[in-house]
Amino acid sequence: MLCWHLSVRSYQLLVYEFKLKGKQQQFNLIDEAIRTALFVRNSCVRYWMDNPKVGKYDLSAYCKELAANFEWAGKLNSMARQASADRAWAAISRFYTNCKKKIPAKKAENAVLGRPQVERFSKTGFPNFKKRGHSVEYKTTGWKLSDERKYLTLTDGFEIGRLKLVGTYDLHFYHLKDIKRVRLVKRADGYYAQFCIAVEREIQVEPSKKVVGLDVGLNHFYTDSNGDKAENPRFLRKSEKALKRLQKRVSKKFNKGKPQSNNYKKARNKLARKHLKVSRQRQDFAVKLARCVIQSHDVVVYEDLQVRNLVKNHKLAKSISDASWYQFRCWLEYFGKVYGKITIAVPPHWTSQNCSNCGETVVKTLSTRTHECPHCQTVLDRDDNAALNILAQGLSTAGHIGTNAWGENDLCLELVTGSTKLTQ
Ligand SMILES: [Zn+2]
Repeated sequence: MLCWHLSVRSYQLLVYEFKLKGKQQQFNLIDEAIRTALFVRNSCVRYWMDNPKVGKYDLSAYCKELAANFEWAGKLNSMARQASADRAWAAISRFYTNCKKKIPAKKAENAVLGRPQVERFSKTGFPNFKKRGHSVEYKTTGWKLSDERKYLTLTDGFEIGRLKLVGTYDLHFYHLKDIKRVRLVKRADGYYAQFCIAVEREIQVEPSKKVVGLDVGLNHFYTDSNGDKAENPRFLRKSEKALKRLQKRVSKKFNKGKPQSNNYKKARNKLARKHLKVSRQRQDFAVKLARCVIQSHDVVVYEDLQVRNLVKNHKLAKSISDASWYQFRCWLEYFGKVYGKITIAVPPHWTSQNCSNCGETVVKTLSTRTHECPHCQTVLDRDDNAALNILAQGLSTAGHIGTNAWGENDLCLELVTGSTKLTQ
């Protein structure tokens, strides 16, 4: 048989993360910068609500106005203000896309124009005001790296000054001009700087000549169309218990209507740190598994699960695994791009109910673990059946993939952290 190699060239944004070492006073200033970025973002959303016809460039112009009118907004580096406006615009354009996909144009228009209806359209992701910010993003100005690239100096009006970068990556490897963004992030265990670096990579890929459909579930992380299963990582169960315990401790120490005690604050921080740890573990798991799946298949089909549908449920175990699946999906799409493989998201309806052999609907409850078709006598594990349906559906729609295309920058910025190296 003919064996061929593909060379896949891709333009990527890698994100490297460092912990920041500095004085408390500097961190307070970072907080101020983060609050200001949030203010700019929310102001832009408000401006759009009042003038629904405005576009991305109007928001940029509006930033200048904000800077002139509010002293603290003027302190923030002009490109950082721009980046905050970009975030507002990302929320707005996401809303427009959702409107196009989910509800008739007339309704979408009403949602934009008529304020009172906003609540009803929350499902389409009407841009909200954010109450809390966790990061501020600089583009190519407003910061400086020291010659030995161990210190980051913020040079805008907040006068945050010089901070030490703690981490294992070597920034010497990249040109300064390839650093497209620098982001300061606040987490439960301290402050971090993320460097978003543009690189062009060429990867040799050998086609696997295999296609696969994945069905995610609570019993197994996923079941594929070959009947293979990936187990849920054990840390999920363990973390779930620990999180419950810490959550209980926080609730016990909460004083209603009174200023909170130091003990409460300590307990809350402990809980937040645990959440952080779990999300890092989850990230690590998702990255490794997704890369493996993409490398060993040419076409990968999975359900189009949206995080906004998933995270609503309040059961802890479920919400942890929901978040894991969503991340896993994002990474599948990311590595799909890197390795030049095809990823297809199909609508998650009926994938478990239909018979993968004859197509008839065989209704079953969640507790029915086996698919038994009365029409063609097929007997299959419930998840195996679903995975086969997902694969079939994906292959039948393969003519118009790309309808679920992502804003490429978003993925990197939101999901890559220092705990995972993207380079092989
Ligand atoms: Zn059947």
